[in-house]
Amino acid sequence: MNMRVNRHGLRRHIPSDVRREVRRRSKFGCVICRDGFCVYEHLEDFVGVDEHDPAKMCLLCESCHGRITRKQWSKDRARLAYEQIQAQTPAEAGEPRGPLDFHTGQAELALGDLVYAPAVTSVLRYFGQDLIKLNPGRPSEPGTISAVFTDDEGKAILALDENEWIGSLDAWDIEVEGPRIVVKQKLGVVALQLRLDPPGRIVVERLDMRIGDHHVLASEHGYAVGVHFEDGHMNWTSPRLMVTGAAANGIAIEIEDGPILRERFNRFKAAGKGVWLATADESIIMHSPAGAMIPQLGISIASWCSFDMFEDAAGAKTLPQMRDAVFFKPAREMRLFLASGLV
Ligand SMILES: [Zn+2]
Repeated sequence: MNMRVNRHGLRRHIPSDVRREVRRRSKFGCVICRDGFCVYEHLEDFVGVDEHDPAKMCLLCESCHGRITRKQWSKDRARLAYEQIQAQTPAEAGEPRGPLDFHTGQAELALGDLVYAPAVTSVLRYFGQDLIKLNPGRPSEPGTISAVFTDDEGKAILALDENEWIGSLDAWDIEVEGPRIVVKQKLGVVALQLRLDPPGRIVVERLDMRIGDHHVLASEHGYAVGVHFEDGHMNWTSPRLMVTGAAANGIAIEIEDGPILRERFNRFKAAGKGVWLATADESIIMHSPAGAMIPQLGISIASWCSFDMFEDAAGAKTLPQMRDAVFFKPAREMRLFLASGLV
């Protein structure tokens, strides 16, 4: 007997649109306990089911699923919880959450080819507020990562809160498959893809995040930080560098008022430190212990750090062009494209 097919000829494989609808109805987590690491459960015995109907399936975590499979709990318990969660408002249901493994004290976030760990703990600071922050633990203490990720409209979609991830019920879809958490903002549009690499490491495989007028794009191989202007134009920067040391207030990606960045650079310049790369067309790129910055974009990379700079690229590209370059081109090609002139 082929166990992949039941007596109605139904395959175990659940079509992706059905799975998404089950996730949506389950509000992206176990309908009983809200754990975000889940399996799909038929609320009727699979042998008798003749279709994959989202109304008769739900998400359950391994633990709640196991209790039902071992007949410690009834299927009715899951069925009732599923009905309740569909009727509840997001606030009543509560967000899905999943534990993260930081037990060794290591806390690392891989973001494109930006090499800043372990010297820098503030990964993304926006006008003085840390949006992504690493907290390596002291010896024998667990580390943590705190982060707020937004989509390309600036809406919060997922947070890391020390040692757990929390999905936003405003997200269009949150899918957890093995070590990957994928947040989509509509069909086929990935806003965030994280790969858990325990202990202590999270790899950002896809980031398409707007924060105010700024934008951060990242894939596993590259990254770029840009700014939206009122007329719809965008300017970007993507230095490839390795941070070798940092002050306590060191920041991997900083978004800040231009005059504040410029003033910081000038202080180091007065002390004879720093390089002013280009000024003729006002695309000023400055390298100093103050950071690799473009003050008129309000962007500084490796602020308050010492670093080795390998490549730099800055230029005007549209958001779709830059997405294509960061997500699908090797980093070197992406930078050549970015530096290839104005659009
Ligand atoms: Zn559960």
